[in-house]
Amino acid sequence: MAIDGPAGAGKSTIAKRLAGRLGFVYIDTGAMYRAVALWALRQGTDVGDMHRMEQLALAADIQLSPGGIELNGEDVTEFIRTPEVANGASKVAVLPGVRRAMVAKQRSIGEKASVVMEGRDIGTVVFPDADVKIYLDAKLEERVRRRLVEEQAKGNAIDKKALTDQMRERDRRDSTRADAPLTQAPDAIYLDSTPFSIEEVEEAILKIVRARVTNGKEIR
Ligand code: C5P
Repeated sequence: MAIDGPAGAGKSTIAKRLAGRLGFVYIDTGAMYRAVALWALRQGTDVGDMHRMEQLALAADIQLSPGGIELNGEDVTEFIRTPEVANGASKVAVLPGVRRAMVAKQRSIGEKASVVMEGRDIGTVVFPDADVKIYLDAKLEERVRRRLVEEQAKGNAIDKKALTDQMRERDRRDSTRADAPLTQAPDAIYLDSTPFSIEEVEEAILKIVRARVTNGKEIR
């Protein structure tokens, strides 16, 4: 099952809950790009250096677990959640070599288990044959509001204007890159979560999943 959409649309929250309800494995592909960016930033590697970044992406030992992510044996769950890493991730995600390495890892995970995989290109590139594809969207203002609430809950004071600019810039980079840009797959179901609660979005998607199951298909 594939969930794609821009930053802050609710993909992670929804995908995690759906995986729990369906007994599937939750896979956050954004965390993988973030881990590669974190490694590059720590090493002082230029995130625009195509060749070195591809080598780094191929060499990165990335392990996802239900609670977090490990990079080369280190728990980096918290370290990848900074604005610098988010920004770096969307820069390394432009590079075809990095994408090839990440997509190969993602396919190998998805072949071994039933997954709810969220990202930007899951329904279009990683698993174009996924049985259920959702494109989860929300208005920029609402996505910023949700991120601010999240950060405030963690005790972080963030500037609204700066966050809005960052999100807009990241969306622009993700949607306009040449390789696997963020776009809705033709057979994906479009959901605008702006006016809905998490529970409402979850129920709407579960309804879609159940309709597929009653049609006699197995969900992938
Ligand atoms: O989803 P998240 O905000 O953690 O993703 C960080 C960045 O990783 C995105 O802005 C995007 O550039 C990149 N990404 C991607 N393809 C994916 C998942 C994330 O290009 N499937």
